[in-house]
Amino acid sequence: MAMYRPDLLFIEMTKACDYSCLHCRASSIRFPSRNDLGMKDINEIINSIGNIAEVTGRAPHVVLTGGDPLMSPSFIDTVSALSDSSVGFSVSPAVTEKLNTDMLSFLMDKGMNSMSISLDGQPEIHDEIRKCNGLFRETLFAMSTIKDFGIKLQINSTVMKRNLMDFPFILKILREYQIRTWEIFFLIATGRGKGEKPISSLEGEDFLKYLLHVEASGTAIRTVEAPEYRRIKQMAMEGFPMIGGDIFRELIRRSEDTNITGLLRAKTYPTNGKRIKTAFISSNGDVSVSGLFNLKLGSIRETPLQSILEDNEILMNIESGDMFRGKCGRCRYRKICGGSRARAFSEKNDYLESDSLCVYSPEINEDVIAI
Ligand code: SF4
Repeated sequence: MAMYRPDLLFIEMTKACDYSCLHCRASSIRFPSRNDLGMKDINEIINSIGNIAEVTGRAPHVVLTGGDPLMSPSFIDTVSALSDSSVGFSVSPAVTEKLNTDMLSFLMDKGMNSMSISLDGQPEIHDEIRKCNGLFRETLFAMSTIKDFGIKLQINSTVMKRNLMDFPFILKILREYQIRTWEIFFLIATGRGKGEKPISSLEGEDFLKYLLHVEASGTAIRTVEAPEYRRIKQMAMEGFPMIGGDIFRELIRRSEDTNITGLLRAKTYPTNGKRIKTAFISSNGDVSVSGLFNLKLGSIRETPLQSILEDNEILMNIESGDMFRGKCGRCRYRKICGGSRARAFSEKNDYLESDSLCVYSPEINEDVIAI
C-alpha cells in the first residue's frame, strides 16, 4: 500500500471573500455558500488526519484558507476542533476588519502555528489587483499587529506580468518588518487568474535566479508552481553561473538598498531542501493536489481522505516522475523539479506533459559544462 502523506493539507473553508482579486484562483464570491464545508466534513477530515498519521507516522499540517477563511460560519468551531485534536494549523486570511485583535488572541490561544497574508506590489498595484483603494496601507498595519502578537508571519505574493518588477519593493518591506519567509505563487490560468498575463519563461528564469540571491541573503523562499527553483538551486550547486539577463540585472539594481547585491559571485547559494507535498480540499469537499491544480482526485463527501490518498495512480505518477512526457520526461532534474503539473494540466489538459515556464532543454543544456 502506498500512502501519499501531504506535508501541508490546505482546507478551503469557503470561497466567500470581501474582495474579488484579479488573480483569485478560487474566483471568490461575496457570501458563503450552504454547500461550504461544515463541522461534519471537518470532523471527518480530522479523523482522516489521525488515520494518515497512524499509517505514515506524521500528520499533515493544516492550512485554513479560502476565499477568506474568516468568512466561513464554521471557522471558529474548526479552529477549536483542530486545537482539541492537537492537529497543527496555520491560517491564511484576507485583510479585513474580521482580522482584529480579538481574532488574533483567539487563534494564539488555540495554538495557531503561523499566519500568511498577501502582498503583491507597490500601493497602486496591490490595491488595483484587489479593486480596493487603501488596502496596501491596511495590509502594512495588519502586518505590524500580527508581528506585535508574536505570531510567525509569512508573506505570499503572486508574480505576474503586471507586478514582476515590483518584487524588489516587496522585498524591502519584508526586510523592514523582519519577515523571514516569502512564498511566491507563479500564476496558473485558473479561476480569475485566467484573465491575468503570466510572466514568460525567460522572465521566469531571470526571476528565479534573482530569488536565489534573495534567499542567499537571508529570506527563505518557497515557490508555488515553479519547482524549477529546485533545478536552479541544483545547477548553482553544480557550479553553473547564476547571473541572468536584463530582467535579472534590473531586479538586482532595484534591490540595491537591500543586502543582496554583494552575493552575486559568492558560492553561498542555499542548498536544496525537501520537496513539500501538498493536498487541497475545496469548499465543496473535492480533493486535489493544490488549489491551482484542478484535477479532482475524489471527494471527502464520498470517500474518506486517507482512502483518496492511498494507492492513487495520479499521485504515484506525480511522485515518481517516471511517466512525465516531453522534455520533463527526459530531464535529469525531473526527480527534484518535475515541472508544474498544474500548469501542464491547465494549458495542455494533460498533467504529465512538460511545463511551459521552463527554459531548460535537456538536449542543449546538458552539453554545457559547469564552471
Ligand atoms: S524540463 Fe521539466 S523537470 Fe526539467 S527542469 Fe524543466 S520543468 Fe523541471
